[in-house]
Formats: sequence, structure tokens, C-alpha cells
Amino acid sequence: MIMSQIAENLAAVRARIVSAAQSSGRDAGSVRLLAVSKTFPATAIAEAYAAGQRSFGENRIQEIEAKAPALPSGIEWHLIGHLQANKVRSAVKWTTWIHSVDSLDLLNRIDRIAGEEGRRPNVLLEVNISGEKSKFGFSPKDAGDIAPLAAAMPNLRMAGLMTMAPMEASPEVLHQVFGGLRQLRDRIAGEYRIDLPVLSMGMSGDFEIAIAEGATIVRIGTAIFGHR
Ligand SMILES: *Cc1c(COP(=O)(O)O)cnc(C)c1O
Repeated sequence: MIMSQIAENLAAVRARIVSAAQSSGRDAGSVRLLAVSKTFPATAIAEAYAAGQRSFGENRIQEIEAKAPALPSGIEWHLIGHLQANKVRSAVKWTTWIHSVDSLDLLNRIDRIAGEEGRRPNVLLEVNISGEKSKFGFSPKDAGDIAPLAAAMPNLRMAGLMTMAPMEASPEVLHQVFGGLRQLRDRIAGEYRIDLPVLSMGMSGDFEIAIAEGATIVRIGTAIFGHR
């Protein structure tokens, strides 16, 4: 059988996830692969779907709205980019996961609109662990203050935390950033006795280190679909 390039890339990424999980003594089944399809056409997503991939991530809700109608309804869409207040209704309608919640206003709005739409999205708080000015996300302290409020909201499931590492960071820094997100999660979960099972961290260039530090969702674009 001739595999498509995307199917081949997916198989290679899956194999790397398994071996990264095994080297850190984790069950490979505890790491989910989110295929980040931003800027790629629906045909590329269909190829990945044919190769068994079901979860896809996009930065912009408009891209999901444009691509989803042409694709199988079995796809689970994740929003991973900054969400504007006026796009919350579309996000709630089209996605089941929002990784990039970065303000209390946004959380309140997601909760209200999800209630109106009869949905209950999975929500992650984006945390700026590295402290870079260019990044969205809560400070670790603010994430700690907001998480228990989010956990009490009826129309969303507060599932965990998300972060992005700095570009071109050394392995040491990557371990600090990803390990920092895990420690923050452990602290918040222990302090408020809330269940925060999900850590969304790791991209094409750094996902093996993220898995070593406890990632449960890795968000991978380039290694599957090629360069944007
Ligand atoms: C684009 C993007 C990714 C995927 O990055 P790659 O380096 O292409 O794997 C992951 N997470 C977020 C938030 C992104 O914007």
C-alpha cells in the first residue's frame, strides 16, 4: 500500500509519542495527539482523517467554520488560538475544546453562551509560564485564582492548563516551562481539590520534552502537515 505523505508523517509522530511516553515510564495512551491543521486545506485534514486522526486544532474559529462543513462530522475540533469575545458563540458551536482561555471575562462569556446553546465545552486556561511579554495567557498566580472559579461554572468543564514554550528554547528551558505547568497544575489541584487532568503542551519541535514533563495533549502541526 502506498501511504500519503500525511499518513506517513502521522505514523512517524505517533511512533515518537509512544517512545517518548515509554522512556518516561508513561502509558502512551495517556497522551493524545492533536493535529494542528491551521493554514492547510480541508483536503489535507481529510487525508489525516483517513489515516485515523480524529482531533484537529485551529488557531482561528473562522478557519474551522470554513473547513468543517466539507469534512466528516466525526472530527473533534479544538480551538488553540486567542479567542475574541465576539467569536465565543461560534467557538461554542463548532468546537468541544478551547485551549486558549486567557481572561475571566472570556470564561464568564463562554459559560453563559454555552448555557444558551446547550453545550458544555472542555476548557483549558492558557498560562504564560515563560513570562514572555509577547505571549497571551494568565500569569501562574492569576491561573491559580481563576481555576477554582472556572471549576464552579456549570456550562463548561474546567479540564486543565495549556502553555506555549518560547521559540528556540534550550532543552533546559523547555523542561522548566513544561515542568512548571505540571507543578502549577499539581498545586492548584491540591489546594482547591479540583480535578485538572489535562496538560496541553508540546509542539513539533518540543513535544518529546513535554511528554517527559507530563503532557496529556500534544499540539502538532508542522511534523504532520509540513511547513506553513
Ligand atoms: C501552530 C501551533 C501549534 C503547532 O505548531 P507546530 O510547530 O507546527 O507543531 C501548536 N500550538 C499552537 C497554539 C499553535 O498556534
